[in-house]
Order: sequence, then structure tokens, then C-alpha cells
Amino acid sequence: MSTWRKSSFRSLLQETNTFVACVELVNSRGVIAERGGARVLKLARELSQYPQIHALCITDNAGGNAMLSGDTLGTDLISRGQEVVIHLSCKDWNRNGLQSQAWKLASEGFNNVLALSGDYPVSGYKGQSSAVFDIDSVGLLKMISEMNAGLKVSVGQSKKNQVLKRTRFFSGAVVNNHKRYEREVMPQYFKLRKKIENGASFIINQIGYDARKQDELLKYMNYSGLHVPVLYNVYVLSLAAARFFHADNIPGVTVTDDLLALAEKQADSADKGKAFFLEFAAKQCAIAKGLGFRGVYLGGHLKASDYKKVLEIADQFGEDDWKDFAKEICFSQTDEFYFFEPDLTTQLSSTEVNREYLHSKHLKATQVSKQSIPLSYKINRTIHDLAFKKGTAGFSLGKKISQAIERKNKGTQKILHGLEQAVKIAAFDCQDCGDCSLPDIAYLCPESQCAKNQRNGPCGGTKQGKCEVGEKECIWSLAYDRLKAYDEEEQMLDGPVVFRDGALKGTSAWINTFLGRDHHGKDKK
Ligand code: SF4
Repeated sequence: MSTWRKSSFRSLLQETNTFVACVELVNSRGVIAERGGARVLKLARELSQYPQIHALCITDNAGGNAMLSGDTLGTDLISRGQEVVIHLSCKDWNRNGLQSQAWKLASEGFNNVLALSGDYPVSGYKGQSSAVFDIDSVGLLKMISEMNAGLKVSVGQSKKNQVLKRTRFFSGAVVNNHKRYEREVMPQYFKLRKKIENGASFIINQIGYDARKQDELLKYMNYSGLHVPVLYNVYVLSLAAARFFHADNIPGVTVTDDLLALAEKQADSADKGKAFFLEFAAKQCAIAKGLGFRGVYLGGHLKASDYKKVLEIADQFGEDDWKDFAKEICFSQTDEFYFFEPDLTTQLSSTEVNREYLHSKHLKATQVSKQSIPLSYKINRTIHDLAFKKGTAGFSLGKKISQAIERKNKGTQKILHGLEQAVKIAAFDCQDCGDCSLPDIAYLCPESQCAKNQRNGPCGGTKQGKCEVGEKECIWSLAYDRLKAYDEEEQMLDGPVVFRDGALKGTSAWINTFLGRDHHGKDKK
């Protein structure tokens, strides 16, 4: 067993200029003694021997399948002095389960976590597993931040308040920036801000093969004052992986026709394109360094020596070679939206905001453009502004009526709740959660219309604007279009983090709003 300890992932990113290299480990199914488990363990142990690899990142039920828990493998690695980043996703645990898992991780010495909403479950024992999504990645980041600050909990029968010992998590998050449409890209950027504001201290982006979009991410963050280290996601392709991504199997990961054709051509060689794919990944590492990413997040189905080889090839390139590689690895999608104009010399991103986008913002703010917005949305906005906005005469009246109803017997409350439901089921397919997010999402219900009940912005799961689950448009893309007609889209995620209160299920959301019991009346940021 190695006796040396690698520098902490946190200190490498926050206190040094080291270009950090991480490798993703996808856990296997079954106990660690299974063949798959033994293979991942062997790979992990070999990687932990390489000083070039700074951290190993362990996925959490990747792809929505049940896998061995990440900390089983992680415990072996941290005992060897290896830095580990544990993925923590919201798909299989509610907030209590996540908190409990976080305490377990903190107690076992895991400090680095990557907070994710997570993939939608696709399988399970005797049928597909139900998705949880009690909170999302933003909620998880906020909860971890409060655990780091010393979480206040009530204990015992007396419900006495106690401040718990601080955890020391170094939390990160993901951004899915390689999207095609404006109504996908911009909400991802807004959510990135929200993740950072709520505790993400490092960012890993989604896999992508477009250097201009990679460049744009860093330039957008700089433009928006978001200064946290970003790791460039380099998935080492093979022909099988290129075909898998080309078939849109992973939301937000695109292999274009051109890139697939290149992969097929290279895979025709005697080594099935292996040398080409390793060099292709090494070129992406060079681009990452050249653009100013703080490191790379390597993934793929490789042997430990192959990961090492990728980093060695990257080290052999000349200082400016990355500029040519960037021109080579720029596989953009048809009509792909970019926030910035291209830089025609480098073929990367300029810092001039997309002129067509700016023009569309101006157009959208005019009355003419509002014609494309559903009438129901306009009516709901008006009703909300008259009756549900704090400080209005309508809100004061609603509060008085709610207080009066509360004093009446349960029968009256039931009748009025029934009336509210009759209206909201017809208009929004309301699920009676009692903690209404309709005003937060341009009058689209996350309970009935979002498979992951995302209340703090979109997950990364859109494919060409559509939700990864089913064939519907993503509610956040629709909300973006609606809000843009009123020039309000940039503020769409500006509110406090939304935590749906499970205790309100089956109660009147209107009364809860007027009496300040729901998230609109609770903590502000
Ligand atoms: S509706 Fe949007 S946010 Fe909700 S699961 Fe689908 S893609 Fe994700």
C-alpha cells in the first residue's frame, strides 16, 4: 500500500496553479468481490499510484441504475492517501437520506462532493425504481453549505435547538453548457450562477467536443463575475462510445455526424483507432489548459495506463499547439446557440455578446412579440399581480379571508380547498402539493410537468429542447420563452432556493401563500 498522501483537491484548486487531473470511476453492480467490482477496484488502485492523477471521482448510481455505493470503493482509496470526490445525487434519496449520507461521508473522511440532481432512474428490482427528487442540486448545495456553517437542528422531546459540529465539505457542481438552443443554454448558465451562490466551489462541465463552447463557458463566467475553478470534461472516445453519444443516449452529450464519421474512419485502423482516440483526448487536455480551465475530468472505458498516456501525450505538445487543436475539435450542432459572437481568427469565442440574441431581447420586450405567448399565461400573470403579490390590496384581502377561513370549521376549509383544486387541476394539472411554484416557473407546474420536480432551474436533461423523460418540452425552456417576452428571463432564478415543504401536501396553496407558510413566505436566500 502506498504510504504517501496526495495534496488535497481543495488546496490544489484554491491555493495552487496546478493543472488538476481527475478520473471518473463508474461503480459496478453487485458486491465489490464481483468481477466488475474487482475490476474497478484494481483500476482505482492503479490510478492512485500515479502522481499525475490528483483525484478520483466516484459516480452515484450512474445512468439511473443501481450500483455499488461510492463510499465502499472510496474508503479503500482514501486509506491509501488518494483524494476522492464523491458524487451525491438527488434521484434516490430524499433530503433526510442525503443529509444522513452526508454525515456518513463526513465521518468517514470524505470532504469532496459533487452535488447533482441526477439521471432519471431507468431500471430497478422487479420494475423501474421510482425517482425521488425531493430536493435538487441547488437545494443539496445549500443544505451542505449550512452543514458546513453548523446546522441548527432540534433534538429530543423538548425540541431544544442544537448547533451541530461543522462539516468540511468542498462542494462542486456540474454545468450542462453543450446545449443546442438558447432556451436551454441560457437557463443552464443562470442555474450555474445559482449553484455557485449556494456553495459550489468548483465546476465540472458536461462532456462536449466543441472548443468554442468550452471557451464560451469560461468567458461567460468571467463576464458574469463567477470566479470558481472549472474542470474540462474529457471523455475518451471509442467507436462504441461515439455511436452511443451520437444516438443521444446521454442528455446534453452530443457527438455530431461529422465527429461520428471521423471516429468510424479512425476505428478502421489496426488498433481500432485507439492511438487516435488517446491523442484526441490529449488534445482536449491541451485545449483545456490553453483556455484557462483549472484541470480536466477524464472519463472513458480505459485501463489505468491509458489515462496516464493521455496526460503524457498532452505534456509533450508545444505551448501553442492547443490553438490548432481548438480549430480541429469544434464540432458544433446545427443552429447551435452561442452567447458570444465567434472570434473569426481563433474560431473560438469572442467577448462580444451575440448580436442576434441582443436583437431578439429587444424585440421580445415589445408588445408584438407577446402575441406568441399563451393567453392563459397573460391572465395568470395579471391575477397574480392583483391578488397574490405581497403589498397589493388583493393580497391583504386574501390574507384576511384566509385568516377568517382558518377560524371556521374544517368543513368550510374543505369546500374552499375543493374549489381551489377544481380551478388549478383544470388550468395547471395541479397535484395539490400545497407549496405552489407556479409563479416561479411562469405558471408551469413542476409536480405534474417536470419528471424531476425541478424547482430551482432545469436539470441537465434536455435533448434538443425536449425533456429527457417523455417527449414534452422542458418546463424551464417554456418558462424562459414566456419570461423573455416580458424581458424578465434573466431574473428567472433570482429568488431564494425553493424547498418544497412536504408537510403542506393536500392543503390549500392559496391559504399557505397568504398566511406565509409556503416557500414564498419563508426564508429569503
Ligand atoms: S422538464 Fe426540464 S427540468 Fe424537468 S426533468 Fe425534464 S428536462 Fe429536467
